[in-house]
Amino acid sequence: MRTSAKEAIQAGQKYYFTGIPCVNGHISKRFATNRNCVMCDHQRKEKKRKQLKTNTKPTKVYRIVEFAPSILRKKVKKFRRVRPEIISDRRVVV
Ligand SMILES: [Zn+2]
Repeated sequence: MRTSAKEAIQAGQKYYFTGIPCVNGHISKRFATNRNCVMCDHQRKEKKRKQLKTNTKPTKVYRIVEFAPSILRKKVKKFRRVRPEIISDRRVVV
């Protein structure tokens, strides 16, 4: 295991290990690409996953469909004009 991000990238490795604790006190390997602590990253993902499970707040799209369908229709119309190639792949039905 390399001890610096630069060395790890040069050696084609994904991680490196400094032995120095991160801001949250984990002594674990770090990603060579963004220098983030692997444990922190894992915890962030876990937290996000739990939030998504318990989050009952409607999404932006849902709110638009529910309360302002005319706005959504306008948005889709504009989107069709600007990015027609995407609409042809994934059909948007309003
Ligand atoms: Zn950490």
